[in-house]
Amino acid sequence: MISTKDGLLRCPWAYSDELTLRYHDDEWGVPSHDDQHLFMMLILEGQQAGLSWHGILKKMSTMRAAYNDFNPQILAAYDSEKVAELLNDPGVIRNRLKVKAAITNAQAYGHLCDRHGSLDSYLWSFVDGEPIVGNWETQDQIPSTTPLSDTISRDLKRIGFTFVGPTIVYSYLQAVGVINDHVNACSFKDINRDSLPTSETEILPTADDTAAPSGRHDSGGEKDCESLGEVVGIEYGAHFAG
Ligand SMILES: [Zn+2]
Repeated sequence: MISTKDGLLRCPWAYSDELTLRYHDDEWGVPSHDDQHLFMMLILEGQQAGLSWHGILKKMSTMRAAYNDFNPQILAAYDSEKVAELLNDPGVIRNRLKVKAAITNAQAYGHLCDRHGSLDSYLWSFVDGEPIVGNWETQDQIPSTTPLSDTISRDLKRIGFTFVGPTIVYSYLQAVGVINDHVNACSFKDINRDSLPTSETEILPTADDTAAPSGRHDSGGEKDCESLGEVVGIEYGAHFAG
């Protein structure tokens, strides 16, 4: 655990670089109920497989642009031309399996919504709406899978998702706050995120937050399957037929 001059303690992994620190402070472990955010994070966790999360954070803004802000309704309708375009875009993870997985998972998201209403209601039903709070003194005590991640992984695969192995799912559950795995001494474990001081450049000597994910605390940001359809001006389900 490292103390910085902003007086806050953090999980050790937060200090690897500025982007990671911002992510740790602003996003990681904050309960998300915004379907578009939940979908985007599921895709990004899959895109990360075998790579560093820092690499994903660096490409976050270019990936959001290339993938239509990860709107599942739009992704589900991507054609081979769009796949080729993505595979030529240095701003995304240029792996054919991962690009295809984003599309497959957008289609699976439609099936999930048909059955469960939203990814939000689906995901949080596994924990009765309450985050599981870890009890970890050190970072290396934190597991990479649990029976819960095994269960959700199996179920997502059954619905049709890919790149959703138990390790990816566990990391996802941590990211979207279904599991709070900040170590016990971390100042961000119990803090009210809305009242956090915004982390500014004094924490680390260099700052390049232009690509940092933003907007997740914007009011009125919650979206479900239906409203995502409205956002892009199509009727929900139109791209998921058949
Ligand atoms: Zn932490």
